[in-house]
Amino acid sequence: MLDLTHYINGDHQQGESGRFADVFNPATGEVEKRTPLATVAEMDKAVAVAKAAQPAWAAQNPQKRARVFMKMAMLLEEHKPAMAEALSREHGKTIEDSLGDIQRGLEVVEFVMGAPHLLKGEFTEGAGPGIDMYSMRQPVGIGAGITPFNFPAMIPLWMAAPAIACGNAFILKPSERDPSVPLRIAELFEEAGLPKGIFQVVQGDKEAVDAICAHPDIGAISFVGSTPIAQYVYQTATAHGKRAQCFGGAKNHMIIMPDADLDQAADALIGAGYGSAGERCMAISVAVPVGRETGDKLIEKLKPRIEELHVGPYTDEKADFGPVVTKAAQEKILGLIETGVSEGAKLVVDGRGFSHQGYENGFFVGGCLFDDVTPDMDIYKTEIFGPVLSVVRANTYEEALDLPMKHEYGNGVAIYTRDGDAARDFASRINIGMVGINVPIPVPLAYHSFGGWKSSSFGDLNQHGTDSIKFWTRTKTITSRWPSGVKDGAEFSIPVMN
Ligand code: NAD
Repeated sequence: MLDLTHYINGDHQQGESGRFADVFNPATGEVEKRTPLATVAEMDKAVAVAKAAQPAWAAQNPQKRARVFMKMAMLLEEHKPAMAEALSREHGKTIEDSLGDIQRGLEVVEFVMGAPHLLKGEFTEGAGPGIDMYSMRQPVGIGAGITPFNFPAMIPLWMAAPAIACGNAFILKPSERDPSVPLRIAELFEEAGLPKGIFQVVQGDKEAVDAICAHPDIGAISFVGSTPIAQYVYQTATAHGKRAQCFGGAKNHMIIMPDADLDQAADALIGAGYGSAGERCMAISVAVPVGRETGDKLIEKLKPRIEELHVGPYTDEKADFGPVVTKAAQEKILGLIETGVSEGAKLVVDGRGFSHQGYENGFFVGGCLFDDVTPDMDIYKTEIFGPVLSVVRANTYEEALDLPMKHEYGNGVAIYTRDGDAARDFASRINIGMVGINVPIPVPLAYHSFGGWKSSSFGDLNQHGTDSIKFWTRTKTITSRWPSGVKDGAEFSIPVMN
């Protein structure tokens, strides 16, 4: 069995704690690797290295820093196929989906090539007599990222690229489920010319996360994962005086209006509901058809498509989606399906018995479809994070709108309609961070910002786009005066501009 490492000060370092987490191949159910779980002392070591390396990196001009990202983008492009293989082997998703995972991260690497422009401050000439006022953006110093299992390339790059381009050193604590790709990213950053200690990987669990939240030399923390942990990290980090942005779970609805193209809506639901086995924070897990006829027709279109889904290991090119990440995830999903049945929801497609020949120990769950789900049911309230779509029927547009409005989560939402008025009203009134109009997974591109509302996000600046530049920097505003021959007396009241 292979023992993975940390990546500290430009070196693969063995773990010193004697504690490890098993890394599975979810398709076979076998443990293939172990990842070390860091101690507080190991985290301290990485922070000390970052602290020593960061000032020289911040002192480089931003154009030179940006050039590292140009090289990094080329390296990611070159190594994408091998990285996708490693990613699928630990995560379970299809190769095509892993390529997308890396690509979405690479796009943020491309975005930060514009750091010299993005970091420009503001200037006011003649704010008063002989007075100029200007602001600059300076790095926070050391930033840390704590990431989930479901996008082991994209989310680390979403955090690290802007943090580093802004002149920070960055420490990544990736998910212990699929830690190989983050290590590869560290190697590629170094090949791209990033100095040692500016991007480090410290593997770990709660102990490492707590060490990050409490360390006095870490200035900003970005977290992505489930809502209870997002809330915990936000509270702990901010209690220690740190800046924090913490993104949590989701329950994304798609409203299907009676005038929608139902074939298009059904295709969108299949891709957005079952792609990556539903293990995406932007997966659609609730479909809300408006009107009985729309609901009946939609179920009629969805049922055969779901029954025909091809579930298989990542090595099967025909697979639409693969296994879920762990045995525990599989058991949780199967348990929630059982709950749905006992709550009285109608299980139209039952994927519980699914088994793949030759992969009987893999963590597979077949596609499931529930009809007649109601808002009081656990399967409606809980994030299932599996290949399970719930249909909640609504009689009117207002009734449909009310559902995502009242839901605890506010990550993504979509509406399918041909009516521009309804779409415009929906986009304006909905209390959710990312909205799709005839687009099922409205993940903003790198130069816009990504983030949810309500229990899907804690903190007030989003991932990538200009928000990320604000998050990873502090603003300093300078008021300067060069008086020529003016003699001032002492002034005891607050300066105002009359
Ligand atoms: P998770 O919360 O279990 O783990 C996320 C990170 O927190 C990991 O690095 C993990 O090691 C660490 N962690 C776990 N338990 C901890 C604890 N008790 N104390 C401190 N740290 C702890 O999430 P996951 O299962 O890896 O990822 C799936 C979740 O992430 C889903 O809820 C999904 O919706 C969410 N997610 C959200 C977004 C978003 O942008 N909102 C994006 C992707 C995933």
